[in-house]
Amino acid sequence: MSSPRTVTRPAQAEIPVLHDVDVIVMGGGPGGVGAAVAAARSGAKTLLIERYGFLGGMATAGHVNPWMPNHLDGKPLDSGVFMEWCRRIEALGGMKLPARAFCPETAKLAAEQLCLEAGAKILYHAMLDRPLMNGDKIDCVLALGKSGLGAHRAKVYVDTSGDADLAARAGCPFEFGRAEDGAVQPMTSNFDLANVEIARMPDRKIIQEKYDRARAEGRIQCPRENVLYFKTVEEDRIHFNTTRIVGAKGTDTLSFSEAEIEGRRQIAQFIKFLREEISGFENARLHSMGTQIGVRETRRVKGHAYLTRADYERCAKFPDSVCRVTYPIDIHNPSGTGTEITHLPQGEWYEIPYGCIVPQGCSNLLVGGRPISVDHAVHSSMRVMPPACTLGQACGTAAALCAERGLNPIQLDGKEVKQKLIEQGVWLVDVPAGGSPAGSTERRDRTAKVLSA
Ligand SMILES: Cc1cc2nc3c(=O)[nH]c(=O)nc-3n(C[C@H](O)[C@H](O)[C@H](O)COP(=O)(O)OP(=O)(O)OC[C@H]3O[C@@H](n4cnc5c(N)ncnc54)[C@H](O)[C@@H]3O)c2cc1C
Repeated sequence: MSSPRTVTRPAQAEIPVLHDVDVIVMGGGPGGVGAAVAAARSGAKTLLIERYGFLGGMATAGHVNPWMPNHLDGKPLDSGVFMEWCRRIEALGGMKLPARAFCPETAKLAAEQLCLEAGAKILYHAMLDRPLMNGDKIDCVLALGKSGLGAHRAKVYVDTSGDADLAARAGCPFEFGRAEDGAVQPMTSNFDLANVEIARMPDRKIIQEKYDRARAEGRIQCPRENVLYFKTVEEDRIHFNTTRIVGAKGTDTLSFSEAEIEGRRQIAQFIKFLREEISGFENARLHSMGTQIGVRETRRVKGHAYLTRADYERCAKFPDSVCRVTYPIDIHNPSGTGTEITHLPQGEWYEIPYGCIVPQGCSNLLVGGRPISVDHAVHSSMRVMPPACTLGQACGTAAALCAERGLNPIQLDGKEVKQKLIEQGVWLVDVPAGGSPAGSTERRDRTAKVLSA
């Protein structure tokens, strides 16, 4: 029965089963690219489903730049699919390693090439509707495209939607935001300005003083405390990650939509401020914005392992680790102004164990990328794109092993997944000081400086 505030969907006609594969990866961001490449290369018949018409997630649709450094001793820890993605972007002319700025359009090309060459099939313009369950297993997923609903079946599923959409709809328990009030990190609409005379730009201190004044006098209404900007792959272009939309929820359609509008309002205000008050920007013009606003945080699944700030502080290590992280805790204040940056001791890292990518409540699902089983603080560190990609790679590797052996992810020994990742070139082995991890790039990025993501 419908009520005045709800309607009832009529019984659905038969839905065609469009794919029957070993592994389905839901969402083609950094996590999904890592997962699809790894699953397909491991021999699994793999389908990657993505709501947009291109891959890359926040790196492309969200206009997020540059890759934040997840480095140890100047070398990238994410030396598997993530570094292959970077090298492919470089080969296509879209970045110059070891610099971390990249061209998002080239990142789309490179991600697609890597997935297709690995043997994965890609289904674009398909948005997850819901899974159909058989007990605690996903039987198939329904995805909505231009031709209506289609069903897609696999033995094992990987949720790399960034928001754990598939896990949540499959009934997996999850957390949302920080423990005390469920508030999440703010959203940001990223944008680039072109035609900037970079040589004439004042230093950051002067920009900061002018920004503080503009905020105090009401010419800028943005809760962010500073102007965060980066150089790009082009000589006259500056990338801004500086708008801040507080209290918006990326899993709520209305809130998500309102955040887009508020993000663009702030962008227009920033452009006016920069053109009128900051030298070098007099003739700047809007070059590009994200296809969507950047969403930092929504759900985090509850998995068979769970990492907390205390684990971060003790630089926790695990025999079945699938990812190493040095990037700091980086929490943009969910309530307004301020950003917490808490670094690990120099030369230290923490590890994410296999159980953090195996959710409770659904037996044929893994979760990669940012919504894994960690608390609000650890999430703020591991969410950056390089480890998100490696966590996807771990899921794809595990999913292929499970599909081949008829196992559930929880039945798999995480130490075997770690060993496979090492064979694929991911830096999970200890090396002597000055040594080089298997598969890592020799190039150094000693100037890598964290400015917050
Ligand atoms: C404003 C902002 C600034 C940041 N700055 C940096 C930075 O400078 N450097 C850095 O390294 N990291 C940065 N990050 C973090 C990083 O971009 C993300 O945490 C990372 O991209 C997460 O990767 P992911 O694959 O888990 O998710 P995403 O990148 O969000 O990818 C998810 C993919 O799934 C698709 N999808 C989602 N839902 C569905 C659905 N229901 N059906 C079908 N497809 C779906 C999406 O379209 C997308 O392609 C920033 C993030 C934000 C929001």
